[in-house]
Amino acid sequence: MNTEAKIALVTGASSGIGAATAKKLAAQGMIVGLAARRKDRLDALVADIELSGGEAIALEMDVVEPASIEAATHILIERYGRIDVLVNNAGLMPLSDVDALKINEWKRMIDVNINGVLNTTASVLPHMIRQHRGHIFNMSSIAGRKVFTGLTVYCATKAAVAAFSDGLRMEIAPKHNIRVTCIQPGAVRSELYDQITDPTYRQQMDDLAKRMTFLEGGDIADTILFALNAPKHMDVAELFVLPTEQG
Ligand code: NDP
Repeated sequence: MNTEAKIALVTGASSGIGAATAKKLAAQGMIVGLAARRKDRLDALVADIELSGGEAIALEMDVVEPASIEAATHILIERYGRIDVLVNNAGLMPLSDVDALKINEWKRMIDVNINGVLNTTASVLPHMIRQHRGHIFNMSSIAGRKVFTGLTVYCATKAAVAAFSDGLRMEIAPKHNIRVTCIQPGAVRSELYDQITDPTYRQQMDDLAKRMTFLEGGDIADTILFALNAPKHMDVAELFVLPTEQG
């Protein structure tokens, strides 16, 4: 183990933006805790990172279950003594119109997209406060800035993440030397659209992907590295990153 390395925890690391971010953080020499529910995916990513000379650890974790988050945080603290970077990235986007009343999907989005961010922050924050340093990244979206039909509840969850990020930064950055960055991506190619059960909206996303070149997870990972590598006196509070053709 590299005792100089920084320690990161990335939620939703089993695919898409989270997996790409974990790889880039590891390539920078950080030791990365990979958190998600699909352990097989995490194990494959650990192997991939190790093959490139990096270090990572698979942490089976559900952001809706505080006990599983505590267990994952505990593993990192026991093993490495601290957590320097938290990437609150896990999220869901099952689209539908409000009058379709897919209440279970709304509940799931609120649980994962909002409560997941709060739960994980609550678990890691005391360690960052003790260290008097840290950097928390929260994954909002273009949908946190602007409302789209079919994304109403998703937009509400991502607006909540943006508001939480703002308040969190104002409270903890000056007091505890912990930077907070809210990332707001436009369309990124990932598995996010696979959960859309409404055939019209699923088709709409497929059509959108044919009309423009989506961002890749690695593009968002690069923006995270930009904020992370900024000088210590500088907190990149917000990053709004779009495919050029999305406008
Ligand atoms: P993916 O579907 O590829 O990744 C979502 C990740 O979230 C998976 O690793 C999944 O892991 C994890 N996840 C879902 N539920 C839980 C849970 N209960 N506990 C722990 N992990 C969970 O999509 P993206 O990479 O695109 O999405 C990542 C983030 O980026 C999301 O917050 C999304 O809203 C946001 N975003 C995405 C955009 C896009 O266009 N793709 C645009 C703007 C923002 P597992 O299933 O293994 O638990």
